[in-house]
Amino acid sequence: MRRLESLDFSGYADRGEYLDGNVTQLSAYIRFGILSLAEVRDRACAAECDTASRERFLIALARYDYARRVLALLGDEIRTAIEPLKTGWGADSYERSLPQEVLDSTTGLACIDAFSSELRETGYLHQRARVWLAAYLVHWRRIAWESGAKFFLEYAIDGDLAANAIAWQSIASSFSDAPTIFNRAELERHSGGRFCTSCPKQFDGCPFAGDIERLATALFPAKADEPGRAPELHAAADRYAPIAGLPARPIVLHHYDAMRPAHPAARLAPDAPSLFVNDAALYDEAAVNQVGRTIVYAALGSMRAEYRAGDFVDEALAFARRHQADGVLVTASADPALRRRFQRLGEQIAVTIVPEDPFVVLDDGVDLRRFSRYWASARRSFNAVSSAAKIVPLFSN
Ligand SMILES: Cc1cc2nc3c(=O)[nH]c(=O)nc-3n(C[C@H](O)[C@H](O)[C@H](O)COP(=O)(O)OP(=O)(O)OC[C@H]3O[C@@H](n4cnc5c(N)ncnc54)[C@H](O)[C@@H]3O)c2cc1C
Repeated sequence: MRRLESLDFSGYADRGEYLDGNVTQLSAYIRFGILSLAEVRDRACAAECDTASRERFLIALARYDYARRVLALLGDEIRTAIEPLKTGWGADSYERSLPQEVLDSTTGLACIDAFSSELRETGYLHQRARVWLAAYLVHWRRIAWESGAKFFLEYAIDGDLAANAIAWQSIASSFSDAPTIFNRAELERHSGGRFCTSCPKQFDGCPFAGDIERLATALFPAKADEPGRAPELHAAADRYAPIAGLPARPIVLHHYDAMRPAHPAARLAPDAPSLFVNDAALYDEAAVNQVGRTIVYAALGSMRAEYRAGDFVDEALAFARRHQADGVLVTASADPALRRRFQRLGEQIAVTIVPEDPFVVLDDGVDLRRFSRYWASARRSFNAVSSAAKIVPLFSN
């Protein structure tokens, strides 16, 4: 909360795209629900900063909301290609294993080696660096995006099944209209040239040198101009109604997607016995890496909870029985592994799934095929909020 309060958003629009720019590094807090998107949104709306920076920042948050909504629709299928690739290469042209020299940071490309080291050593990479490293692996080295996505999920402190898969699929072109590539000029501009000046390949052998069109022709010689039709992904409208029929003697079950003391289920029953279950198999299924598990454990320190290690469902049931509970309250999650646990639990005891604090309220049937379609509806929701609260317009037009 201290970190959130002290954030300075000014300059985010101008410099956020630069490696030394003013980004927030909130992603791990958001990923594990230590901060809700709604809290961060409200802070950004109240902050004194230029309108363009506020807008850009809200769009960044919206990308996370969007990814989680796509995850809620697709479940584990988000781990596989949503659409065919538009690169002209068949899916079987891509290698499954990552090049060892990328893992060891010995490619001889100063930028790529630095990004790989930074990711493995700190768990954090700026959005731009993530895009460049991912594009290099998929398009220059022709590595399957699924393998690259696993590599990132293994190390990122904000490792998130939804945000990570959507980003990789978008770069690869299985969830976008075209593959994402970059060139040396873009990299130099956004990194202040700090890699190129010390790169052994600065004068000879830089694979990113040249204009984008020429690079695209070399990388995708068989690319078709007509992208195929993307499948529709319609989201149900958001409806927030008061929760009826609450259990008289509930327990609250915490989980790794909502690690703050006052998450919605905990708010509903602040005095109820509450439990956190450390379930290694669940973590593995949900691809929560070791750093993520540590962050969750640390966040638990500020929550009122009993702690158990074991099977999420068995431990929850045993805890409920011990407290003679007639129901379980949980905060909703888009995570398919958690949703399966909620369902299994619901076969034994009443489970009330309490919606997360809404970030935006979408109209009915919004097509989530592309972020732009989601954003058209989400933006209206923001403007409705700002005019109701009589605060400055959130968006310039
Ligand atoms: C290949 C690739 C993999 C990624 N994997 C993850 C991941 O596992 N977890 C993750 O949280 N983000 C992921 N991102 C998105 C983005 O890179 C990070 O959220 C961002 O860099 C985090 O830094 P920040 O908190 O300083 O971001 P800021 O620029 O300060 O943005 C504020 C918040 O907005 C959200 N956000 C910003 N950009 C995106 C985006 N493109 N997609 C979704 N949410 C976004 C994050 O919650 C972030 O904390 C990935 C991007 C790429 C290209």
